Amino acid sequence: MLVFNGRTHAAVGITIGLLLIEKLKIPTDTTVLIYLIGLYIGTLLPDADHKHAPMGKVIPLWLFLKHRTLTHSIFMFLLPIFLIKLLANHIPIIYLFSQGMFLGIACHIAMDLLNPTGCPLLYPLMKKKFNILRIKTGSVLDDAIFLTSMICLIYIMYQNFLIGRVV
Ligand SMILES: [Zn+2]
Repeated sequence: MLVFNGRTHAAVGITIGLLLIEKLKIPTDTTVLIYLIGLYIGTLLPDADHKHAPMGKVIPLWLFLKHRTLTHSIFMFLLPIFLIKLLANHIPIIYLFSQGMFLGIACHIAMDLLNPTGCPLLYPLMKKKFNILRIKTGSVLDDAIFLTSMICLIYIMYQNFLIGRVV
């Protein structure tokens, strides 16, 4: 069974985030730190719904949410998008912070999709948990199409909400 702890989530997320700095046109001056802080928080945030996870001790979402529900669905991406929409005009560094957070959340959910337990990507609309490594016989094509669409959807959300910088 493939289970990632907070440390691994953070390590993989930050590695990917660093590899993408140039592609995402993140400034390489001191403000890069804001992006990295957002990235770090994003890699850990989905597991705030777990009592023993590092982020669960800081933000105890487990008091209100079951493990691997809302924070492991595509609706979790609304958080960085809302932060940008609400605050980036007033506090420009929120943009970098949210960009890092978005990517961190994406890395976390992508890693949890490798776990046999999977993630309920459409929670609360649909409770079914999806995973990449243990696709059920008979529904391979179904899941493959669904996951491909989800990746496209996240990419489109990213292009529309995060690449088009707030002026
Ligand atoms: Zn998780």
